[in-house]
Amino acid sequence: MMTAHDIHAVLQWHIDAGCDETIGDEPINRFEVPAYVPAQVQATPDASAATRAQAAAPGITRGAKVDPKDVDNNRQVQTAVALAAAAESVDALRTALDSFDGCQLKSNATNLVFADGATDARVMIVGNAPRGDEDRQGRPFVGAGGQFLETMLQSIGLGRTDVLFANTVFWRPPGNRTPTPQEVTVCRPFIERLIELVDPAILICIGAPAAHSLLGATQGIGRLRGKWFEFQTPTLSHPIAATALYSPDYLVKTPLAKRDAWQDLRMIRRKLAETNV
Ligand code: URA
Repeated sequence: MMTAHDIHAVLQWHIDAGCDETIGDEPINRFEVPAYVPAQVQATPDASAATRAQAAAPGITRGAKVDPKDVDNNRQVQTAVALAAAAESVDALRTALDSFDGCQLKSNATNLVFADGATDARVMIVGNAPRGDEDRQGRPFVGAGGQFLETMLQSIGLGRTDVLFANTVFWRPPGNRTPTPQEVTVCRPFIERLIELVDPAILICIGAPAAHSLLGATQGIGRLRGKWFEFQTPTLSHPIAATALYSPDYLVKTPLAKRDAWQDLRMIRRKLAETNV
């Protein structure tokens, strides 16, 4: 039988190895045979919630060698897809996200940081991840970076209530680290559904990680900025014009890039005038 001394030694071993947090009430059987998940299907533009969920769900190919961790992740993504697809309004999406426990970031965060601004905005702004101020207030882009971004937007006549702010992940990563690909993937159904529901004329990705997640781009921000892309999902009836901006943090550290950022803002102002939605 294990003595108190043995148990203490085992706990200490875990702490020394960096395992300093319990993340579930139930143990996970990592040897369990994974359930078969159908592969992706293409949805029609007038897809129902069920069809939307099916269209966006990631699949595990039958017969492929499967890492049990991927099975877990895959289940969380499927739950996210189903919850997001069923939300018929921004409020319903927020409630769905609040009930979702499939993103590890939630366990360390103070608040859900969902969206802020006008839900019928013509311009939607998506950043990488909430920081400390956003975590405390439960609103995106309210810290120093957000205030700088607001000043930038004001220069082209956009106030905070003319846009909708959100992030690619909805909880603050500890220490403001970059969200992991898994964290981004599990949150993606929610941010994509938010964009579908708001259906803005223009989508602005702040920094490369947001552009990579939403536009499938892989280049650095220096190559992505100043160009137009198309954001599309199986459910949207039309593509949304999308672009990327340098993050406010980068601009504060790199004053020379402000000239490019000003050109980018003017490009956005021109597009807004053209689209006139
Ligand atoms: N604040 C946010 O909410 N998102 C960012 O990407 C940066 C600052």
